[in-house]
Amino acid sequence: MDTLQQILKSYYGYDTFRPMQEEIIRHILQGKDALVLMPTGGGKSICFQIPALMLNGTAVVVSPLISLMKDQVEALRANGIQAETINSGNDESKNRIIRERCLQGEVKLLYISPERLMTEIAWMSQGLKISLFAIDEAHCISQWGHDFRPEYTQLGILHDKFPTVPVIALTATADKITKTDIVERLRLQNPQLFIGSFDRPNISLDVKRGYSAKDKIRTIMSVIKRHSHESGIIYCLARKTTEKLAEKLRAYGVLVGIYHAGLSMEERDKVQEDFVNDRIHVIVATIAFGMGIDKSNVRFVIHYNLPKSIESFYQEIGRGGRDGLATETLLFYNVQDLITLRRFVDESGQKEINLEKLKRMQEYAEAQVCRRRILLNYFNETAERNCGNCDVCIAPPKHFDGTEHVQKALSAIMRTKEQIGFTLTAEILHGTYSGEVTAKGYQLLKTFGAGRDVPFRDWQDYLLQMLQMGFLEIAYNEDRHLKVTPLGKEVLYGRKRAELAVIEREDLRVKSHKERQYKLGKKEETNTEKAENKILFERLRELRKQIAEANHWPAYIVMSDKSLHALATERPTTLQAFGEIFGIGQHKRDAYGERFIAVIQEFTDTIEETALNMPINSESKATSVLCKNDTHR
Ligand code: ADP
Ligand code: ZN
Repeated sequence: MDTLQQILKSYYGYDTFRPMQEEIIRHILQGKDALVLMPTGGGKSICFQIPALMLNGTAVVVSPLISLMKDQVEALRANGIQAETINSGNDESKNRIIRERCLQGEVKLLYISPERLMTEIAWMSQGLKISLFAIDEAHCISQWGHDFRPEYTQLGILHDKFPTVPVIALTATADKITKTDIVERLRLQNPQLFIGSFDRPNISLDVKRGYSAKDKIRTIMSVIKRHSHESGIIYCLARKTTEKLAEKLRAYGVLVGIYHAGLSMEERDKVQEDFVNDRIHVIVATIAFGMGIDKSNVRFVIHYNLPKSIESFYQEIGRGGRDGLATETLLFYNVQDLITLRRFVDESGQKEINLEKLKRMQEYAEAQVCRRRILLNYFNETAERNCGNCDVCIAPPKHFDGTEHVQKALSAIMRTKEQIGFTLTAEILHGTYSGEVTAKGYQLLKTFGAGRDVPFRDWQDYLLQMLQMGFLEIAYNEDRHLKVTPLGKEVLYGRKRAELAVIEREDLRVKSHKERQYKLGKKEETNTEKAENKILFERLRELRKQIAEANHWPAYIVMSDKSLHALATERPTTLQAFGEIFGIGQHKRDAYGERFIAVIQEFTDTIEETALNMPINSESKATSVLCKNDTHR
């Protein structure tokens, strides 16, 4: 094993580097600048943390949020690495001690906000040996990005003040302009650009089109039930929606919190802390949520509404599954969202760019090909194979000759002189005597009820498909009425036929989730194994919780879910075997090994005892706690 790998193993408990990490580390060790682009959860931190451990002096890490800094410092300390943060939340005497320790060479990583760095720079340039500067969330430097922080622009002076110290900029989101901005404003010297893969194969992708509020709740509840005691995030477009949705979930007994820009800072911090520490399981949030958290075990991310761009969408789903374990994502898409977002675009300063972004998002939601390929293509990565972990791959859409449906719909629209929107069209087709229908006398139209046999919500879906296929257009400037396009007229007058996608209403999700686990290489567990793993897993989880509370850390800082699962499966009973477990470095082994081993030992003793006391040939349930490994031990 070479030195880099040894460090990875002994501090972090990981066996292999992820793609690019090693290359980046070697580059930094040569004292060169770099711009690192990797998706959220891709493993950027290790790229500067390992050089920081290997080089003399202190690495100064610039980060935009106190909560992010706190999280990283805790995670480092939990691995036995000397890390500190100087920020406005500390009292001055604490900051003084930290400065002193830095000067003594006792701190390997110092986390600091950009504005604070400017005021600390004097003593640093006098006596501190700085190994490197890492600028996290570097896109904050660009006013083209969505998180522009004016304080970041001052960071350009670092290279003037410390010409020999390498500067590494890291971000998950950077388009071309942002990339150029980062390089220019930080005055990076011949930086090498490292672009990691944006693929996150453990995150499943799923889009549900045209669901009503009721359908959405039902589907969300089935996701939550599948992940009881686990964490998830639900993103909504509007504050009001977050409140309403949270109320409904609460009524079902879900431990849920809301997060949006209308809440006070304290309220937001509290919700975030409760989520990080597993006191609440589900967060219903507007897009404002997530930047400040590094929680690695978020098991599902749901978009209640269509996001405004693929960048935001990808960043938000990227907050799930950072630990690499299977994670579900689900996007609800309906035409109302499209109309709302379109209005935002029209009101926004950069209409053209934003419209293009929305269009790409819409294309993703409407796609009939592997969704991951679309995402990766968007980030300029070509994927050669279908992923097998998105709804299109799992259940490819089926089609039928929908010419008659299309003709009925277009004819209804024409007969109103193209003066109706989506809902009214569906009402006319289905034959619904709504207030608006009767007020306008549409019940007298020849097409009223022409599609009575098709459920109302299916009509909404078919109309959306007709929009996607270009038979219809929304006139945004005319009260969003529907207009029949020339292509639509071809179908209407029988010169062309039209295919529509079959609407699958029965909930495929339970089955498909199993299929996914299978496709991701996880063997189907037998009931016996599952039952017995679960008991041990829960005991280990309880111990993790106790340790976390004693240290005032979130549970995942003590140990990731992935490590807990590995412990429950491998059941190490010696310190050495414990240290071999994924995610357990020397420090964690020495700090908690004995306690975890005691729990495992107690568990294995109990099942052995149960086995010994079993009457021979008994069919009693107690045998089911035994699994093959135990009988041979
Ligand atoms: P980013 O900053 O890119 O969003 P992080 O640096 O927080 O991502 O890493 C995400 C997760 O992946 C962390 O839990 C981290 O410990 C883990 N990780 C990073 N590198 C590896 C690796 N080589 N093997 C296993 N896990 C890793
Ligand atoms: Zn796919």
